[in-house]
Amino acid sequence: MLERGEVANSWRRERWDSLRLLTPNWQSRLPGFRYEGLEPDGYMTMGEVTEFIERFAKVSGVPVRTGVNVTSVRQAGGGYRLATSSGEMHAQTVVIASGACNQPAVPALRDSVPPSVGQFTSFGYRHPGQLPDGGVLVVGASATGVQLAAELRQSGRPVTLSVGEHVRLPRTYRGRDVLWWMDASGVWDQRYDELEDLTRARRLPSPQLVGTAERATLDLNALTSMGVELVGRWAAVRDGRALFSGGLRNMFSLADLKMVRLLDTFDEWARTSGRDAEVGPPERFPPTRVPESTRLQLDLQSGEIRAIVWATGFRPDYGWLDVPVVDAKGQLRHEGGVVDSPGLYALGLPVLRRRKSTFIYGIEDDAREVTDHLARYLALPG
Ligand SMILES: Cc1cc2nc3c(=O)[nH]c(=O)nc-3n(C[C@H](O)[C@H](O)[C@H](O)COP(=O)(O)OP(=O)(O)OC[C@H]3O[C@@H](n4cnc5c(N)ncnc54)[C@H](O)[C@@H]3O)c2cc1C
Repeated sequence: MLERGEVANSWRRERWDSLRLLTPNWQSRLPGFRYEGLEPDGYMTMGEVTEFIERFAKVSGVPVRTGVNVTSVRQAGGGYRLATSSGEMHAQTVVIASGACNQPAVPALRDSVPPSVGQFTSFGYRHPGQLPDGGVLVVGASATGVQLAAELRQSGRPVTLSVGEHVRLPRTYRGRDVLWWMDASGVWDQRYDELEDLTRARRLPSPQLVGTAERATLDLNALTSMGVELVGRWAAVRDGRALFSGGLRNMFSLADLKMVRLLDTFDEWARTSGRDAEVGPPERFPPTRVPESTRLQLDLQSGEIRAIVWATGFRPDYGWLDVPVVDAKGQLRHEGGVVDSPGLYALGLPVLRRRKSTFIYGIEDDAREVTDHLARYLALPG
């Protein structure tokens, strides 16, 4: 097991200070290892996640070699030749577990932003004090965007949030964590080869969730109540002005509708599986409030916006992979983690084999099936 940094590197180096997992503690599970603390319904800080994964590395006895950067993997001698910062090595099979979120995905618009406005990504952002005083434009309203918009607003800054397609979820539903429902109802176990539109499922933004002691819901209504201004999707920059799409009403209704459909699925599952008595009564939430008037442009040169925080998602980095298995969009070509090159496998990618594949909790089932395939491959004659 080769790791260029330390164990749990991404949790140590690539996250902001206040971040907590959005998955509850009881859901932090790795093969043969689970959270055993006193707060199963709490959410881990980054220090706690790092410690949790470090402990797993020790207990599982995985032979991790830290500080080894893999700079090239290419096919050779019926397997793969790896070039690393600690020399070359050969492997009959390789499992790519290098992560789905190695880099922030920032649109080309960034190049048209006037130099007077500071630009940050969720990789570089640590805390509000890092940003220049004044207004902030947060771009993207998925888990990262809503969390950073709330934190920046609470620090006293005027915050504008540019909202594109998003997934609205309540933190708790009928008295249970919404992720308990995702798990118990089987939604998270839906398999990649049974989904109607796998490409779409793999591109789905992360849900608007935050892990807090109060188990608070952090949807757009919560942000509006905090004084965050909502604008549409950032479409272009013209003459130093950011131009936003209209149609917030439609976008909000779509997210509300999808949430209701999901809650209907949960209710149906509770009813048919005889679990109704274990949970509270069904709930429905107010629709997302549409601002009375929405600004369609913002003058980036006026001084109103002093910083932009890009919360527009992440992408993997396969710059080191010299095997032709990456498509034009930079994604690995694979079938449930079996990569399009014999003996090459992947884990930890969106909906790799199930909807829960990119969560800590989701790795176990995927890992079992991928390693089964790998073992069969190694057992093949010749
Ligand atoms: C902001 C954010 C919040 C998240 N919150 C949650 C959450 O609340 N709950 C949850 O379950 N999941 C969450 N996730 C998803 C989380 O990333 C996964 O659950 C999990 O960390 C993925 O683990 P991984 O090992 O596949 O990838 P990573 O954690 O990305 O690990 C990949 C490792 O590979 C190493 N690496 C990469 N390239 C090379 C190379 N060329 N040579 C050597 N080493 C290399 C990296 O240093 C890194 O340590 C979150 C993700 C992000 C980005």
